[in-house]
Amino acid sequence: LEKIAYVNGSYVPLSEAKVSVLDRGFLFADGIYEVAAVLDGKLIDNASHLARLERSVGEIRLELPETTARIQEIQQELVTRNQLVNGMVYLEVTRGADTGRDFAFPKGVKPTLVMFTAEKDIVGAPSARTGINVITVPDIRWERRDIKSVALLAQVLAKQAAAEAGAGEAWMIQDGKVTEGGSSSAFILTQDDVIVTRQNGSEILPGCTRKAVVALAEERQLRVEERAFSIEEALAAKEAFITSATVFVQGVVAIDGRKVGNGKPGPLTDRLREIYVEFAKATAV
Ligand code: PLP
Repeated sequence: LEKIAYVNGSYVPLSEAKVSVLDRGFLFADGIYEVAAVLDGKLIDNASHLARLERSVGEIRLELPETTARIQEIQQELVTRNQLVNGMVYLEVTRGADTGRDFAFPKGVKPTLVMFTAEKDIVGAPSARTGINVITVPDIRWERRDIKSVALLAQVLAKQAAAEAGAGEAWMIQDGKVTEGGSSSAFILTQDDVIVTRQNGSEILPGCTRKAVVALAEERQLRVEERAFSIEEALAAKEAFITSATVFVQGVVAIDGRKVGNGKPGPLTDRLREIYVEFAKATAV
């Protein structure tokens, strides 16, 4: 079954889904993206992803070519057409294809909107049970990481370094503190049972999964502190984990080859993962 993609109003075979070489997403990374997980054929926490999409496009003064309600319909239509059970829907909006390569915004050019799906067994992934190793790299990104821009070269290099080291993620370091993972939010659980994750701000992407996990933890009277932490603190922690739309909650069992806790995903990590999966299923659309 050939997968179907959405390109500017049309549903086309993925292999034939194309945009112009003059597209500003391609030329300047002048675009925004979102990734929402799919579980049992339904979108997870999608309202949160669409709210972040609206915020990101607003920050770069790009107008969405469709309402977010319509975007959700298209996401759902793609899930149906691709008979997607578990995986994700990727969406990207760019400032469109102009007639040349002027840096300033073009006038009268319609933004490009594309979407496609991919299969992934998020709940049953082996790394959910085993946890992952992470490596650390310097955070070399720009100063507006709160915008979910398609300019991901720093993360490509960070995650390639992780892959070459046999690690599942790279934690990026700035001024001696962890900012976040290449494509995930970073957490630790301290020896006195405080869940710590960096506060939102321009240094990190405000993760949708991070937001949900923090709220779910606080509802259960777990202590949460939003502040930066160092690798030394992470190595002295009881547990460490990451969150993202496509992994949910995943244990971090080693950092730069040194064990965290007993080298296995901790009990709080496992519990938060179960709580998140329950929340995801209950709120799916
Ligand atoms: N931080 C970065 C840099 C990311 O790219 C991502 C997701 O891709 C996240 C955090 C996690 O965000 P979310 O939970 O919304 O997927």
